[in-house]
Amino acid sequence: MTIITPSTPVAIIGAGPVGLAAAAHLAERNLPFIVLEAGPVAGHSVLRWGHVQLFSPWRYCLDQAARRLLEQTGWQAPDPEGYPSGRALVERYLAPLAAHPAIAPRLHTGQRVVAVTRAGLDKLSDAGRAQAPFLLQIERADGGEELLRAGAVIDASGTYATPNPLGASGLPAVGELAAADQIFYGIPDVLGAHRERYAGRRVLVAGSGHSAFNALLDLVALAREAPGTQITWVVRRGDERLAQAYGGGANDALPARGALGQRIRALVEDGTVRLVTGWRSERVERTPAGLVVHAGTRALDPVDEIVVTTGLRPDLRLLAELRLGLDPAVEAPSALAPLIDPNLHSCGTVRPHGVDELSHPEPGLYLVGMKSYGRAPTFLLLTGYEQVRSVAAALAGDWVAARRVELELPETGVCSGPVAAGGASAAGCCGPSGPELPARSALVPLALNPAAPAPVTAPGCCTPAEQASCCEPAAKAECCDATLLSEAGTSGTRTTAEPISTSCGCR
Ligand SMILES: Cc1cc2nc3c(=O)[nH]c(=O)nc-3n(C[C@H](O)[C@H](O)[C@H](O)COP(=O)(O)OP(=O)(O)OC[C@H]3O[C@@H](n4cnc5c(N)ncnc54)[C@H](O)[C@@H]3O)c2cc1C
Repeated sequence: MTIITPSTPVAIIGAGPVGLAAAAHLAERNLPFIVLEAGPVAGHSVLRWGHVQLFSPWRYCLDQAARRLLEQTGWQAPDPEGYPSGRALVERYLAPLAAHPAIAPRLHTGQRVVAVTRAGLDKLSDAGRAQAPFLLQIERADGGEELLRAGAVIDASGTYATPNPLGASGLPAVGELAAADQIFYGIPDVLGAHRERYAGRRVLVAGSGHSAFNALLDLVALAREAPGTQITWVVRRGDERLAQAYGGGANDALPARGALGQRIRALVEDGTVRLVTGWRSERVERTPAGLVVHAGTRALDPVDEIVVTTGLRPDLRLLAELRLGLDPAVEAPSALAPLIDPNLHSCGTVRPHGVDELSHPEPGLYLVGMKSYGRAPTFLLLTGYEQVRSVAAALAGDWVAARRVELELPETGVCSGPVAAGGASAAGCCGPSGPELPARSALVPLALNPAAPAPVTAPGCCTPAEQASCCEPAAKAECCDATLLSEAGTSGTRTTAEPISTSCGCR
């Protein structure tokens, strides 16, 4: 195991909400760390969607260690029930946190990590690997290059800079790159900085999820002010699974998240937004009438602009020289992937997890935050804060705290399980609550510290609430693949141990 010292600190890649939360937890534990941020300021990626209102109220946006640090400085916490925009999240929370004396001297902006390896070892070399410090290759904004040695690496670099393409097969559609000047990836600021680009234009929005909803709602608001603005929305799913696309509605524990989808549903139903389902973009053709998107033999009407909100994917190139344990489909750490894989996982809600699920065959390396979810779409800030609390505790050798679960996540109120026989969707389902199933023992392998205490397996299973909120009966057996944390010596917020599934995401 590598040693964390002032000359081999913990290197945190990215000063977004989760990278800075990692810094706060390490500061509390008096572990040396350095934060490397590619952008000019902390929260650089969040500022790229600064005009978007979060669906989480402030009380779900603050990390507890960060909050403790900030409260030492006279910082005033925002109204816990208010909803920040991305910009407010930076201005009222991330910027003050970045300026805190425990973090500011260790935060280096304009420093992009381009590669990470083990000093003196390539990926193939075994001998002395676990003891060798990490080596980070850094490109500075002024063009210079740096090398940094680190005892551990927390990659919190997010996924915002690597969006999925329009092409439904995971590759850019034919002609997509050539039409780049008329394609926006993410949520354009159509009511602000990008207004001229979209006012009075024919706009195609591709993709489902909250980013699509935000883009559509802003375009609808623009269309009310700028006649001629036309909005077409294409989604891959067919009509039979359309209800899921609108989210959990009133069942969502985050009301703002639930409401977004319901507003879109109404706009589709009244014809304000033209929806095309079962659409798989293959080709973008530039014609005198505008961009025409094709799917097989079908073609959409020409448009002036395309907004692509088809999800995000992690940039794994900087970790190519390290030994990653990633799920081949989700591109999330292998133990975490089954909890969040939309192909397997019936509940939109994901239970909290920590160091065990985040470990790799490369000891001392952790992917956290949005990046830890790979291509899965359901990440929440609270999840990331719990991840870094656990990782920081493990790096400090506090395995009891590392394995304690201190968080309850809000339910999405939507299930994404397979379509039932006869075409009925499982949307909003969760099916009947079955009897509690017996627990199976499944201990998580310990990657960082083999001497760490093993979790205690205990009888018990999903709680009745979990039983009720987990979807298909078939998945319930997986829900009950439970281990319980040792309560010995814990000082967390929970008084009773919580079941931890290693293979299902029912919290
Ligand atoms: C539009 C939108 C709305 C969202 N709303 C919510 C919400 O309401 N509630 C919620 O819980 N979650 C929400 N999320 C999801 C998620 O919580 C956010 O995306 C959050 O910003 C993720 O935090 P992060 O720290 O993991 O990554 P990011 O915020 O993406 O931060 C990563 C940082 O790493 C830096 N970086 C990237 N590459 C490198 C590199 N190679 N070297 C150095 N630095 C690098 C970036 O510049 C950036 O500052 C939302 C996401 C989006 C996109």
